[in-house]
Amino acid sequence: MLTRLAPTPSGYLHLGNILSFCITTALAEEKQAAVFLRIDDLDQGRVRPAYITDIFQTLHYLGIVWQQGPVNATEFVKKYSQLKRLALYEAALNILRDKKLVYACDCTRKTMAFCRCRQRKLSLDGLHHQWRLITDGASLDASLTDFIIRRKDGFPAYQLSSVVDDVHFGIDLIVRGEDLRPSTVAQLFLCDLIEMPAFRQSTIFHHSLLAEKDGQKMSKSAGAESVHYLAAHGIPAKDIFQKIAQAAKIDATVTDHLSLGRAYLRQFPFASENGK
Ligand SMILES: [Zn+2]
Repeated sequence: MLTRLAPTPSGYLHLGNILSFCITTALAEEKQAAVFLRIDDLDQGRVRPAYITDIFQTLHYLGIVWQQGPVNATEFVKKYSQLKRLALYEAALNILRDKKLVYACDCTRKTMAFCRCRQRKLSLDGLHHQWRLITDGASLDASLTDFIIRRKDGFPAYQLSSVVDDVHFGIDLIVRGEDLRPSTVAQLFLCDLIEMPAFRQSTIFHHSLLAEKDGQKMSKSAGAESVHYLAAHGIPAKDIFQKIAQAAKIDATVTDHLSLGRAYLRQFPFASENGK
């Protein structure tokens, strides 16, 4: 089996990312899966070179290892950037276009709730037109009805690039936060339409998210919760793992990423989406 760590370099890695990585590597150990480092850098407006470097520095600092994918930022940019796979995403988008499963939409975030673009028959090639997938027949979260699969800047949207990448790299064990459960449903719907049924064979787990004191999801903007910040202030890796364990309400003394991941799996055993 092959699983992946899939950070987005649009901020410094935070404790919530690390919890997810620990669960992923512990589950990989349990299932004898290899770990692939998949960095999602399509959102070029938010990606910063410093954040790409931070991913490698943070993983090294914490002793988290992976067996496949880029070994450093230079190799990532040269060989693994999503910009290298635009033709793959384009091919998937063209399948949907040929099947007449998409329509153009020029709504903004504000006017999206009143989108009537399905009837307007705007040109798919129009400048600043995003593509929406017709999701009739899928039981999706309301926020994902006719979800966007190509953005206004012409780049593929997350749901599409994520499925294409996982299938491309042969990933069949996916570990992600509960917040992505609606995305999982959308991606399972999408994979058949873009003729990538292999995605449906993946084993998919969703884990709980770390909450801050006010119960909100831990955000990347919370600087004090970034590993970059903690490492810069001399906090040793094992203390960072213990801090994450506390935040995740894990009753165990942990020393490294595997002991944290194993403790999480012992305390919160979860069932995969497809029971495998
Ligand atoms: Zn619209």
